[in-house]
Amino acid sequence: MRWVVKIGTSSLCEADGQLSWNKVLMFTRQIKALHERGHQVVVVTSGAIGTGMGTTKIRPKTLSERQALAAIGQAHLMEYYRKALAPITMGQLLLTYPDISDPIRRDIFCQTLEHMLQWRTIPVVNENDAVTDDESRIGDNDTLAAHLAVMVRANRLVILTDIDGLYTDNPYQNPGAQRIDALPWVTLEHVEQFGAGEPGQFGAGGMATKLQAARIAQEAGIEMVLASSREPGVLQKIDAPNWQGGTRFLARRGVSHA
Ligand code: GLU
Repeated sequence: MRWVVKIGTSSLCEADGQLSWNKVLMFTRQIKALHERGHQVVVVTSGAIGTGMGTTKIRPKTLSERQALAAIGQAHLMEYYRKALAPITMGQLLLTYPDISDPIRRDIFCQTLEHMLQWRTIPVVNENDAVTDDESRIGDNDTLAAHLAVMVRANRLVILTDIDGLYTDNPYQNPGAQRIDALPWVTLEHVEQFGAGEPGQFGAGGMATKLQAARIAQEAGIEMVLASSREPGVLQKIDAPNWQGGTRFLARRGVSHA
């Protein structure tokens, strides 16, 4: 089975933005276990800008400062991933919007990735934040991961974040809020209803981008699972039948959405 697994900045960094070796290790152990069970796994990782900020203690005031911090942070991020995934070989792929919107660039990207998967290496993908501006930016890694899942015809997209799924209301404010186990079809109304709320301090996404990602995946017939990165062994649990610890956005084909 081919998986695209995305992890957010808040799941990898400490509160001050420092990249956490333990968090990277907890995540990559699970990626390795999936890989060792024969799955093909593409990782989408956030954390470049957060790590750049955590490392330098600089808060960017301009786009070019943000780009420079992304370059610094991305290098740290890959150093951690390379060490944590060893002895499995990994490779870094950095994307911009034209790489997914232009058919020729898309093909080039897909060919590169196919080789990496055939060679049983693990592609680790992020947006190329060091060079993107408003014109060329995808903007958040939830959307990036969903497009990627479609491009590489993944069987499953997993988004790991600091909450264990989609709730009927904000669970931090409303103790009566209930987690939704499965959602057959994300509508624009869902995006409006559940998508309010701020993205994390260092990342770009919030619930809105996760629901948009689910729409992209569902439309292409790919299941998306939203789950907590803090849940021990969460990827193995997602792989087991009948686990009900996150929200499954079920794959559907041929249905026109609202
Ligand atoms: N690409 C950004 C980074 O690595 C994160 C984007 C996001 O949070 O979705 O810092």
